[in-house]
Amino acid sequence: MSRFFSEKYASLVPYVPGEQPKTRQFIKLNTNESPFPPSPLAVSMAAKAAEHFELYSDPECRDLKAIACQQLGICEEEILFTNGSDEILNFAFMAFCDANHPAAFPDITYGFYSVFADLNGVPYEAIPLAEDFSLNVQDYMGIHKTIFIANPNAPTGLTISLSDIERIAATNPDNVVVIDEAYVDFGGESAVPLIHKYDNLLITRTFSKSRSMAGARLGFGIGCKELIADLNAIKYSTNPYNVNSATMAAGVGALQDEAYFRTNCAAIIQTRAWVTEQLRHLGFRVTESRGNFVFAAAPNYPGQKLYLDLKAKGILVRHFQTPRLKDYNRITIGNRMQMEELLRAIEELML
Ligand code: PMP
Repeated sequence: MSRFFSEKYASLVPYVPGEQPKTRQFIKLNTNESPFPPSPLAVSMAAKAAEHFELYSDPECRDLKAIACQQLGICEEEILFTNGSDEILNFAFMAFCDANHPAAFPDITYGFYSVFADLNGVPYEAIPLAEDFSLNVQDYMGIHKTIFIANPNAPTGLTISLSDIERIAATNPDNVVVIDEAYVDFGGESAVPLIHKYDNLLITRTFSKSRSMAGARLGFGIGCKELIADLNAIKYSTNPYNVNSATMAAGVGALQDEAYFRTNCAAIIQTRAWVTEQLRHLGFRVTESRGNFVFAAAPNYPGQKLYLDLKAKGILVRHFQTPRLKDYNRITIGNRMQMEELLRAIEELML
């Protein structure tokens, strides 16, 4: 740290992203990326847009908004695009949290929520999940806090029902409830239709997972037009051109190529069911994941050791060395061949 670093960040502990190794060819199952390339239409539209990099991108993302709104059944004042969904989550902490509106989220969830809270000086409560990682909806009813819930959750993949989301939104009418739907396309149920019933509900989504565009950085938020106006106030006070023109064009292509998206999601869902079954057959405890990953604990094999042993065999998974998670590894669902190799490696290790 330099002697110039602001004191307000002195105790900041930054988020640690999953490894992105460049030195060796790993089977990479550690950051929930898609094993499939982006839609060819997305790639060609991005290349075309790059021919006009001399111009700033459209701060209103009009082309992208038009097709997204048509597909989602919402109007253009109800959506905002950002540089990955991490950016909209940060905007939500900036816009809707302060000393009078502290944040609340599960103790086991996406690790960035606590980092965003700290970055913005927001007090927060980490509400413990049950032993089986399920969320007790009562813990979130009438708590007068700005609530962040990933549905499906990470790293467990578990979901809560839309009726539970309604109960949380209805009993916290003076606070925003953020539902992070990064993984919803892999079998979750979206709360988007509820934005017309609850003016305090904000949904966040990403193109990083189901649309194979993690490297392009494209996310969005959906909520009533007043919430979106607040988030736009933050966006236009930080970076009006937060979505670059190639990414914007790729986003339009990805949304147009609906068949490609559906085929890839179906493949991931099918492979997830097969991997879950195989791991359970080997004695693993595996949560009922609705994400593009499984969360699994090996029998008589410490989680960290499995992570390291798989890494030595050229397979990267994600390990969290915290007390409640240390027995588990989060394994991204890759293509069928990658998962066959993973299972072969695990069987060898467990012999
Ligand atoms: N929410 C959750 C639950 C995630 O796991 C991730 C990906 N790490 C994100 C949001 C952010 O994804 P992105 O910024 O790539 O849209």
